[in-house]
Amino acid sequence: MVAVAAWLGAAAVAETPAAVHPAQALIEQGAIAMRSDPEASRRDAQAALAALKLQPDADLEIRARLLLCDYQSERNQAAVDAEVAAIEALLPKARRTGLRAGLLVCQGEMNETLGNNAQALAYYEQAVRVASEAHDDEMIAGALFSRGYVLGLQGEYARGLADLRRAQGLYETLGMQHHALTAMNGVAILYNRMGDYEQARDIYTAALAAQRNAHMLREQGVTLHNLGRAHEYLQEWPEARRAFTESLAIQREIHYPRGEAYALRGLAAVDNGLGNWRGALDTLNRASKLQAATPDARLRAQIDLARGTALRGLGRDDESVVALRSAIEVLRGGDARSELAAAYTELAAAEAARGDWRGAYTQLMLARQVSERLLRNQIDQRFATLRVEFDTAAKEAENALLLRDNRASEQALAQSRAVRRLQAVVIALGALLVLLLAAFAIHQRRASQRMHRLALTDELTGAQNRRGVLGRLAETLAAEQAGPCTILITDIDHFKGINDRYGHATGDEVLKIMAGAVRDALREPAFFGRLGGEEFLIVLPDTALGEGRMTAERMRERVAAVDLSHICPVRRRITVSIGVTVATAGDTPSTMLQRADEALYAAKRAGRNAVRVCPPGGGSAPFADGAQRDAIDQAGSEELQSASGPPA
Ligand code: GH3
Ligand code: MG
Ligand code: MG
Repeated sequence: MVAVAAWLGAAAVAETPAAVHPAQALIEQGAIAMRSDPEASRRDAQAALAALKLQPDADLEIRARLLLCDYQSERNQAAVDAEVAAIEALLPKARRTGLRAGLLVCQGEMNETLGNNAQALAYYEQAVRVASEAHDDEMIAGALFSRGYVLGLQGEYARGLADLRRAQGLYETLGMQHHALTAMNGVAILYNRMGDYEQARDIYTAALAAQRNAHMLREQGVTLHNLGRAHEYLQEWPEARRAFTESLAIQREIHYPRGEAYALRGLAAVDNGLGNWRGALDTLNRASKLQAATPDARLRAQIDLARGTALRGLGRDDESVVALRSAIEVLRGGDARSELAAAYTELAAAEAARGDWRGAYTQLMLARQVSERLLRNQIDQRFATLRVEFDTAAKEAENALLLRDNRASEQALAQSRAVRRLQAVVIALGALLVLLLAAFAIHQRRASQRMHRLALTDELTGAQNRRGVLGRLAETLAAEQAGPCTILITDIDHFKGINDRYGHATGDEVLKIMAGAVRDALREPAFFGRLGGEEFLIVLPDTALGEGRMTAERMRERVAAVDLSHICPVRRRITVSIGVTVATAGDTPSTMLQRADEALYAAKRAGRNAVRVCPPGGGSAPFADGAQRDAIDQAGSEELQSASGPPA
C-alpha cells in the first residue's frame, strides 16, 4: 500500500506541470483584469513571468508579455519596445503560431497612441492576416477589433463597423463576453463618429447595463466617457455631466490617470457648453497635469481645443489662438474631422475677436471645407454601411435559402433511405413468408404421405393392409409389360387355439413373428400384405405358377421352422396352409383371390401345413399338390407338438 501511495504521489507530481501551468490561471485572470483594472492585469502578468522563470513555456510567456505590452502601449514606449523584443525572441519556440498576431496588435496600439494611425492600421492588417492563416479565432477577433477601431478613427466607418461586428460575433462564439461587450462599445463609437449620436447613445446605454452586471469596471469607465461624448454632441448637458462624472470616479478607483484626463476633458466641455468658462479652465488644468504623464497626443489636442474655447469665452483671445493652433496641428494629422472643424471654427472666432479678419476668414473656409468633407464622408459612410448591411442581409438570406435547400434534400435523402429500409423489410418478410409457406407445404405433404401410408398399413404387423396390398396387386396386373404374376394366400393353422391358450396378446405377437418371417423370405419385386385375421397375401410378379408353388413350399417350411417356445412354451411352433394361383388375362385381384382361396381351402381340407394350387380355369377343383403332408395332418384343431413338427 505504501509503495502504491508513493507511486501515485510521484505520478501526480509528474503530471501537474503538463496539465496546468501555474502561470496559466494568472494569465487568464490578467486578460480579464485588463478590461477592468489594468494595474491588476500588470501584476498578474508579472507574477506569471516569475512562475515561468521556474518552469519555462514559450506560449505562456508570450501571452504574459502580450498583457504587459497591452498595458504599456498606452503608457510607455520604451517598455513596449522591450516586450516586443522579448516576444520576437520567443515566437520561434511557440506552438501557437497565431500569437504573432498578438504582437502585431500591440505594435499597432503603440502607434495608435502616438497618433500614427496609418502605421497602426498596417500592423493590424498584418495581424488579421497572420491570425487568419493560423485559424486562431481569438487572435482574429483581437486583430479585427483593433483594425475596426482605427478604421473608424480614419473615417472608414463602414469597414470599421464590419470589423467590429465580426469581432463581437467571434468573441460571443468563443464565450468571451467581456471582449464581446468591448467590441459592441466600439460599434457605438463608430455610430458616434458617423454623427449618428442617438444610435451611439442607445448602444452605449445597453453596453453599460451589461458591463455593470458583469462588474467590468474599466469598461464602464470607457463606456460612460463615450456616453458622455454622445450626450455632448447632442448638447444634452446634464446627462453628459452625469456620465463624465461617473466615468471620472471609476478611472480614479482603478488608478487610470489617462482615463481621468479624458473624463475631465468631458466635464470641461460641458462647462464650455454651459458658458462656465472659468470652471472649464480649472478642470482642463487638472486634465493637462494627468495627460502630461501619458503619450496621448489626441487627448492633448482635445484638451487644447476645449481650453481654446474656454479662453475665447473669457476674452483671452491670444492664448486661445495658441491653444487652438496647437490642437489643430495634432488633429489635422489624426483624421478627427469633427474636432478639427470645431477647432477651425473656434480659431476663426478668436482671430475675428482679435481683429484679424483675413485670418478669421481663412479659418472659416478651412472649417467649412473640413465640415463639408466630414459631412460628405458621413453620408458616404452611411450609404456604405447600408450597403454592407444590405450585402450581409442578402448573404444571410442566401445562406438561409441554401440551408433550407440542404435541409429539403437531406429530408428527401432520409425519406428515400426510409423507403429503401421499408422495401428491405418487406422483401425480408416476403422471403420469410415464402420459407414458412414452403416449410408448411413440406410438412403438409409429409403429413399427407404419412396419412396415406397409415391408411395402407396394418397397424399390428407394419405390413401393408388389405387395401394396400390389393391396390398394388391391381397396379401389377395393369402394368403393360407384366409377366406372369403368381399370388399366395397363407393362413395359420389352428390359430384360434393360440388365442385360446395363451391369450389374444400372444396371438398378436405370433402374427408379428409370422409377418417378419414372410418379409425376410421375400425379395424384390415380391411384396405382401395382411388380408385380415391370420391371413396374408403374397404377390410374386414375373413369377410363373411352378416357381410360385416352390416359393410357397419354402415359405411353409420356413414358418414351420420358427421357434415360438419363448411365447408358446407348449405348442412352440405354427404351420401354415397356402393357396396358390397365377394371373391370367382378364384377371382382377378379386378373381385371383377367389381362386387362391379355393386352393387354400383345399390345403386345409388336405390336412393343413400344406400347399395347394388352383390354376386359371381350374376354379372349382384345385388339383392336389404332390407335396401334401398327410402325415402331419392332425385333422382338427389339435396342437402340433414340437416333436411332431413337419419334416424339414
Ligand atoms: P384353421 O384356420 O386351421 O381352420 O383354424 P383357425 O383356428 O385358424 O380358424 P379360424 O379362422 O376360425 O380362426 C381364426 C381366428 O383368428 C379367429 C380370431 O379370434 C383370430 N383372430 C383374427 N384376427 C386376430 C387378431 O388380430 N389377433 C388375434 N390374437 N387373433 C385374431
Ligand atoms: Mg383364417
Ligand atoms: Mg387359420
